[in-house]
Amino acid sequence: MTTAIYSHPDCKLHEMGQWHPECPARLQAIEDQLIASRIDRFLDHRDAPEADIADIERVHTANAIARVRENAQSLSDSEYYPLDADTILNRHSWKAALRAAGAAVAATDAVIAGEIENAFCAIRPPGHHARPDEAMGFCLFGNVAIAAKHALEVRGLQRVAIVDFDVHHGNGTEEAVRGDERVLMVSFFQHPFYPYTEIPQIPPHNMVNVPVPAYTMGDTVHQLVTEKWMPALHAHRPEMIFISAGFDAHREDDLGQMGLVEADYAWITQQVMNVAKQHAQGRIVSCLEGGYNLSALARSVVAHVRVLAGID
Ligand SMILES: [Zn+2]
Repeated sequence: MTTAIYSHPDCKLHEMGQWHPECPARLQAIEDQLIASRIDRFLDHRDAPEADIADIERVHTANAIARVRENAQSLSDSEYYPLDADTILNRHSWKAALRAAGAAVAATDAVIAGEIENAFCAIRPPGHHARPDEAMGFCLFGNVAIAAKHALEVRGLQRVAIVDFDVHHGNGTEEAVRGDERVLMVSFFQHPFYPYTEIPQIPPHNMVNVPVPAYTMGDTVHQLVTEKWMPALHAHRPEMIFISAGFDAHREDDLGQMGLVEADYAWITQQVMNVAKQHAQGRIVSCLEGGYNLSALARSVVAHVRVLAGID
């Protein structure tokens, strides 16, 4: 069984301005490092299709979808359209967003069909801040939430889990799945920090989202994964696991102030693999979220994919 990597050239055409950290070079850096580390040749490279609108509509309102489509399609080559201060469209953004969500859905289908064991989607725009009714925080559509709903409602799975290790809280994903008994979401995130979600005293019971202070290091994260994520994941017995794989909790990433390194991402990935092997026939679809230091991002993706693909 193989690990697939889904991507598409359209994902590099979406671009939010020269100054913007969520830039096309992120995907190039990942591709380069997969080649340099010699694991590229062990992966099944697949082109991301465009998502069906019906899949996106399981998470987003028609209005939110139309706002991205109509504004992006009205732009000329050099124009931008800001949805908010740091979430910006160019004329390729609609297609890129369709490919990003489409990658997650196609990977889900391929994993459930048994064509591949697991997949990493090297995609942008990222998704976990995108709220059901509005784009937010560099994110247009909630790729992971869309794929999770597809697995449940189209492919008939009963229970799935979402693991989010981005430095930021996946507020959009949480909004999309909060209260849905079929979904367990586990995460950690720097707090207080963007997107400044209010942390309820009593969290919804399908959420194990653990806030941690700035400068939290890998050993603390290992402990919270072991003590908080693992019992909840085993109790939920997911039939498939989705990962919001953001790498901006890396110590070299200036958008976050946490202290993870490549070995921590490898360790977390192995823990998730163990749960997937026990309950979910190994089924994992991992989607790129944040990660803005190009070198740290690319090295961390290699560490993550190496574990997914079982390459020593
Ligand atoms: Zn992030």
